[in-house]
Amino acid sequence: MSRPSRFVLFSLAAAVYLGLLITFSVCRRAAEYIGNDSWEVPAYVLPAAGILLLLLLLSGCMWLTRRRGGPIKPERKVVLSLLLLSVGVNICCNLVTFWDIGQASISIFLFLTIACLLWALLQRFSLLFWYPFFTLEIAQIAGYYEYGTRINSLVVAETLEASNDEIFAYLSAGNVFIAGASLIGAGLLCWLLMLVMRRIPHRLSLVNSGIFFALLALLSAALVHPSRRNLHFLWPCYETYSLGLAWTEAVFHNQATIRQVEALPSPAERPSSLNTLSGGEGVVIIVHIGESVRADRMSVNGYERDTTPWLRSCPRLINFSDCISAACDTCQAQIAILTDARRNVHEKDPSLQPHTGSVLDLFAAHGFKVYSFFGKRNATHLKYDMVVRILTRCSTERFYAPGSPWTSVPQMAEILRSLPATQNTLLFINNEGSHTPFSHYNRENPPFQPAGSSFAKPASHALKVNNAYDNTVHYTDEFVRRVTRLLQGRPWIYIYVSDHGEYLGHDGIWGRGGLGESGRSYHSTSGCRVGMFILTSQELESLHPHFSDSLRALATHTHMRIGQEHIFHTLLGFFDLKTPWYNPALDLCTPSPQPYDGPHPDDSPKEAVVPSVPNE
Ligand SMILES: [Zn+2]
Repeated sequence: MSRPSRFVLFSLAAAVYLGLLITFSVCRRAAEYIGNDSWEVPAYVLPAAGILLLLLLLSGCMWLTRRRGGPIKPERKVVLSLLLLSVGVNICCNLVTFWDIGQASISIFLFLTIACLLWALLQRFSLLFWYPFFTLEIAQIAGYYEYGTRINSLVVAETLEASNDEIFAYLSAGNVFIAGASLIGAGLLCWLLMLVMRRIPHRLSLVNSGIFFALLALLSAALVHPSRRNLHFLWPCYETYSLGLAWTEAVFHNQATIRQVEALPSPAERPSSLNTLSGGEGVVIIVHIGESVRADRMSVNGYERDTTPWLRSCPRLINFSDCISAACDTCQAQIAILTDARRNVHEKDPSLQPHTGSVLDLFAAHGFKVYSFFGKRNATHLKYDMVVRILTRCSTERFYAPGSPWTSVPQMAEILRSLPATQNTLLFINNEGSHTPFSHYNRENPPFQPAGSSFAKPASHALKVNNAYDNTVHYTDEFVRRVTRLLQGRPWIYIYVSDHGEYLGHDGIWGRGGLGESGRSYHSTSGCRVGMFILTSQELESLHPHFSDSLRALATHTHMRIGQEHIFHTLLGFFDLKTPWYNPALDLCTPSPQPYDGPHPDDSPKEAVVPSVPNE
């Protein structure tokens, strides 16, 4: 073909492509203009435009290759090797290959497109991308079949947050084998990729091959019915995008959250007055942010197993059975509990975002000595620890319980012993509680047996995992009993609220990482309803008539739907601590507070489906 006629061919193809795009855009705009939302792009328009563009590119590149004197395409044997390699790579690394064989060809051709183009660009340095990608993908397939979840932002966040205990719980012989097999398998695939690619020495032939395979991928996609098309088959492109998104959401989002909390002004910067105490009463306030305790796994909320026997026996217990947590994420919940935030950080309405910092600052400003008791984790560079450190910066001292949260009880005893009995004190507690791997409970005499924290295929170890979880709730009940025993004879109030729930097959989900996989929002599941209760001593009630009025009001709201947003204002209201940040509508100590009206599951707590503990 002579040069002018080739030019005519390119121009024609380009004109058709552009014409299609312009027609499509004009029709879309026109439909929007006349308010016709039902106007749909004909399914063939975009694939046809893409195919024309690729044909145009391929012709241009082939023409250039011929001018440079290189081979236009690889030998037939090499093409066959490429196809075999791609099938092998997709079988070993692509989780979705067998989900729909009809669409698997898209991934097979698309992998070859990316492999050829990357090799043309970077040669063997492209293995710097492929080796970690293959390793991650092989591990992801094994992880998916073991734990039922892909790598998403929650999984990344949980991994970054993992304590040594959690890492060891996942470090089974099987998982070590899988990690080794992933590393070796990825190395083998990279070696094969290098062998095949080296047989296409000319970079332009590689580009031609890449465009040709892209064309085949697009043709394969065009043949799939639009209702069946699944973005996951755009592997490895969509997968790389998803992994990158999971990482950025988990890490950069953390930084943004830390910055947001750091920028909050302390509520103690504005004038405030504490009208019920003058100092020297020896009042002890305990603010306990629990971990991963579902309301429906506490026997005080009707759970069939007696996980909270001590709380059930407390005549002064004020238990809230319908408390909705703000987020499936520890630090967002901590923000919602300790500041005036009403929802999680994703909330668009600025009025529901936090405007001031920690409520603990106000008590510190009014003479309370604040001590914080955390679990073992003490990393400081991740938001999970940074945020709570910022929110408890008024602490005189912080304690990290070595071994298990039990060890914080003697730490508290020591603090109370060392201070004058008249000193008003606030103890902030945030330990591991019922966080995965559900390992903190009385190991010598666990109430529910057999219990185990094996997270390989949790659904098939449902009994052990459920028992371990129930043991941790039972442990928290005992923990509260031991802490309150330290306070005998003193005026005290204990406010407990869990940060978020957990999934043990509830709503068909296993683990919080499984929530992302389920495609459901946190607030549409029963996991957002968390444990929340208040305990007080008779000594506190006798101290001031305002306290008995507050307790009476609190007791009338126990079946109301409340949220973590109520804690900040209820603490202020209970002590009649007047500050411009106080909102009486969210104070549960008032006669008619405003119930939580944010997102929540459709069921009421009594109708919530609680899977009974299965037999193994
Ligand atoms: Zn948590």
